Amino acid sequence: MYKSKQSGKNRTTFYNNAMSKQIQKQLLLHNELKSAIKEKQFELYLQPIVELKSNKIVSAEALIRWNHPTKGLIFPDAFIEYAEESNLILEIGYFVLQRSFKICKELENSLEDISLNISLKQFTQDNFEDQLINSAKKYNINPNCIKLELTESVTSKDRKKAIDKMLSIKRDGFKFAMDDFGTGYSSLSYLKNLPFDYIKIDKSFVFNMLKNEDDKKLVKAIIDIAKQFNFSIIAEGVETIEHLKFLEKHGCDYYQGYLCSKPIPLEEFKKLLTNCNHS
Ligand code: C2E
Ligand code: CA
Ligand code: CA
Repeated sequence: MYKSKQSGKNRTTFYNNAMSKQIQKQLLLHNELKSAIKEKQFELYLQPIVELKSNKIVSAEALIRWNHPTKGLIFPDAFIEYAEESNLILEIGYFVLQRSFKICKELENSLEDISLNISLKQFTQDNFEDQLINSAKKYNINPNCIKLELTESVTSKDRKKAIDKMLSIKRDGFKFAMDDFGTGYSSLSYLKNLPFDYIKIDKSFVFNMLKNEDDKKLVKAIIDIAKQFNFSIIAEGVETIEHLKFLEKHGCDYYQGYLCSKPIPLEEFKKLLTNCNHS
């Protein structure tokens, strides 16, 4: 039934052995994720976000990692999608929220803000705004130090409702960044109507922009348009000095990528901050 639904609904699917293997794999992942939540096996790594004009680390994106007891470190691509399908993302997302607010408090004197990824289901929960307000109170942080990263999928269902919710959360002081910009169907009118403060240029464009003339033009155009609408621009996936130079020349505001650092555990991040921002 699920397979039929996944492949576009209203169709027949015959059972086969490969499906059974797939179901067993998902069942195992489901049970393991449940114990991971209970046994606190998740950790947030931090990846620096550098301001181009000062060349200082001013922010960080919190990225989830799973410290599996036997399989070692597991990256989000291996479990976030399933967590979203199965609703486990709600519990995982709540952990991410609490932990990033805690980290934000710890780093409040060294950073402008912390970015965290919010999934569509998490954002759609009725009590999402309350979760934000209560956590800000609990950790005694200014909501302005929290940047919520959403993809455009957030407005795919009920756009008006999503925009109203974003506006209300913005009135509480929180900020929004549009993640993976350029990869979906983002149109210009769409950009104009959505209350984002930052646009994150997806790493796929940055990877290709020096090899491919079209991607180069796209990155330039995204920066120009974002400027017209007064968004700040963060480029992801900056791996080389050449990437950085190109983005600097075209007026990008911030960058994130292996050129500065991979995502790292909190203690390592603190050391990096001391070394980079004080030199
Ligand atoms: P994302 O939000 O687009 O995060 C950026 C991804 O690009 C991260 O992968 C980061 O490690 C990687 N990256 C950054 N700079 C570079 C670079 O210079 N080169 C290369 N090759 N990669 C770079 P990561 O940590 O594996 O996360 C993958 C995705 O998983 C994230 O993509 C995000 O969509 C999701 N994710 C991560 N943490 C969370 C979370 O706490 N909640 C939710 N809902 N999703 C999360
Ligand atoms: Ca992100
Ligand atoms: Ca991205």
